[in-house]
Amino acid sequence: MMLLSSSTALPRGGAFAGPMDSAEQGVKVHRAGAVRVTLEYAKAPDCKVFAWKGKALIEEWYPKISDILFGPNHELPGDSVTLICEPMQSIAYTDIRKNRIHISAEYIKANPEDYGMVVHELTHIVQHYAKLQREQVWLQEGIADYVRHKYFERDIENLAAAVDSTRDNYRTGYRVTAAFLFWLENNSNPAVVREINRGCRDGHCTVELFRGACGTDVDALWNKFLISLKK
Ligand SMILES: [Zn+2]
Repeated sequence: MMLLSSSTALPRGGAFAGPMDSAEQGVKVHRAGAVRVTLEYAKAPDCKVFAWKGKALIEEWYPKISDILFGPNHELPGDSVTLICEPMQSIAYTDIRKNRIHISAEYIKANPEDYGMVVHELTHIVQHYAKLQREQVWLQEGIADYVRHKYFERDIENLAAAVDSTRDNYRTGYRVTAAFLFWLENNSNPAVVREINRGCRDGHCTVELFRGACGTDVDALWNKFLISLKK
């Protein structure tokens, strides 16, 4: 990675659509319409390196994640994504109405190599669960971590070892739900993530999706998963 001085002078306004890099980096999206990534880090100039690498990641992974979750020929939810690095309270969040990913400047400073977070947040844009209810967020987060750890970090087979059977359940979300989905994929239905993702996208993000994909209710599936952890 090229190191840039944190004192590098930044143009005012802080929005960088990157006209100079579009030719150099060659936005290659394997379908009609390239993704245009805009960077905003004027309030956090120390995040410049992270932001530019994040931009390249988004260009590569936006169509890739769509293929993972929906298969080929799925229409991407918009042709532009904005990555914003700024001082803020939470670590990260994504506004799927505007395709804007916000990441904390303080978090980036402490975790300058956590590009998996960009992939996780970008997955939320691809998921585009417009009708998601608060009590369904665990499943959205589990699928985002499934994508992050299976395809980007490539360590998803390690996640099950960190599941605490006394405290966690399938609603824990994030890595726990991701480990569960990966186990279901290998032991019940290889297409489970796509099928559940499609249900959530269509506005039916409930545990009934597990029965539909795997033929058994989610509690029974979770218990089988826990038993597998003890072997
Ligand atoms: Zn998330």
